[in-house]
Amino acid sequence: MKAYRFDPTTVHLVRLSHGADLYDQITAYAVENNIRAAAISFLGAVSKASLRYYDQDEQVYRDFVIDDHLEIVSGVGNITLLDGSPFLHAHMTLADAAGAAFGGHVNQGTVVFATEVTIHELDGAPPVRELDERTGLTLWGGDLD
Ligand code: ZN
Repeated sequence: MKAYRFDPTTVHLVRLSHGADLYDQITAYAVENNIRAAAISFLGAVSKASLRYYDQDEQVYRDFVIDDHLEIVSGVGNITLLDGSPFLHAHMTLADAAGAAFGGHVNQGTVVFATEVTIHELDGAPPVRELDERTGLTLWGGDLD
């Protein structure tokens, strides 16, 4: 286990642009505002979802697109550093017109219909993502004991 402690600082309430790429616009906001560590949540609706599922055996992402109008029931994530730049890691649960839910790791290509994001910026030394050999993922602090 590895833990990082912070005191919260600025809370940003951000409305994304209609038609924007959800992943890219949150990332751009973080870069423009030099947000190096944050916890985020978001909700709203998308007109198309682009998600990923991590195949733990093969250690590769399986990408899929849902070309439908969907509610974001819950979006959660964090911003930390990867290669010196703010990096967004987010997952979301989506629901269709019948209320059926599914979700995954947010990928580029998700199109915003209307989305509200809460960014809890954190003040302190940000976690840095490094390759974790066991999982094949870039995780905070890389390999653990
Ligand atoms: Zn993920």
